[in-house]
Amino acid sequence: NADIAMYRAKEQGRNNYQFYTHEMNERISKRVQLEKRLRTALEHDEFVLHYQPQIDLKTGQVSGSEALIRWNQPDMGLVSPMEFIPIAEETGLIVPIGEWVLRRACEQNVLWQKAGYPQMKVSANLSARQFVQKNLVENIQQILTDTGLDPELLELEITESIAMQQEEYVVSKLNALRGIGIKIAIDDFGTGYSSLSYIKKLPINTLKIDKSFLTDIKNESDEEEITSTIIALAKNLKLNVIAEGVETKEQLQFLQQRRCDEAQGYLFSKPLSDKDFEALLMKQKDPVGGLPRSVFDFL
Ligand code: C2E
Ligand code: MG
Ligand code: MG
Ligand code: MG
Repeated sequence: NADIAMYRAKEQGRNNYQFYTHEMNERISKRVQLEKRLRTALEHDEFVLHYQPQIDLKTGQVSGSEALIRWNQPDMGLVSPMEFIPIAEETGLIVPIGEWVLRRACEQNVLWQKAGYPQMKVSANLSARQFVQKNLVENIQQILTDTGLDPELLELEITESIAMQQEEYVVSKLNALRGIGIKIAIDDFGTGYSSLSYIKKLPINTLKIDKSFLTDIKNESDEEEITSTIIALAKNLKLNVIAEGVETKEQLQFLQQRRCDEAQGYLFSKPLSDKDFEALLMKQKDPVGGLPRSVFDFL
């Protein structure tokens, strides 16, 4: 990429050359800064988790949440996970950071149960580097034991590209993870190139339809076709299916018509701090103690 920029800059003359070099230097120096600060972020307690509610499309109730990491860097402000997760991956820092995420997510889920809210699952994203870690299963088991979370309530999200590594390895790792009672979801499903026959062989529980397929659900688009196909595939394989990036009522209606199990997206809520998520749980609770209210009532 840098080479292309350099080539283009050269083509366009000297001034552009300098301009691009300057821009490139800035990018590299930002990356160096980020990496340096990432190394101490855990010990300085700069990470927090936000929770995005997942909605059961039959009942309209919150069925769980996805835990998403946020980095509040004192000098740089909020840094997006899209920016720092790749650096954490490359440097290996993702291993302790990912462990922190899992522990924090489990801990918080138990706190909400103890506070009397209905049982919900919690999903956490697992990076490629974490997936291949030798003592991953033992570490997760330890976290479950320490926090007291029912393993059934924890779901790990791995991307299709992780799942597409060497088959025997992936299957045995997934079996080991499911052996301790937790669940597995394939995140951003549909963006990779795994074949249906391959997906069939994987011991997984959930397919998460990538949000790129939701954006164009209005008029008969390819995306609509793909979304319908993924839902049908999930039903066929008896997998749970959840759509991410649901932003409009039209998308919601489309998903409900096709009997998609769950949905997650800005239509319902953006990812929320623990305090705000709890406020949502509170709002859902029926004041007279009957059935919980449906979030569809407050859309
Ligand atoms: P992801 O796991 O696919 O998470 C979904 C992303 O979509 C989140 O971005 C979420 O805020 C965003 N999103 C939710 N609803 C909508 C919507 O209606 N419309 C649109 N356009 N976007 C929506 P976020 O939080 O910035 O995270 C980005 C990615 O960073 C995640 O994608 C995941 O791959 C990674 N990530 C986040 N937290 C962690 C973590 O704790 N560990 C690892 N390994 N990766 C993480
Ligand atoms: Mg995810
Ligand atoms: Mg996703
Ligand atoms: Mg994604």
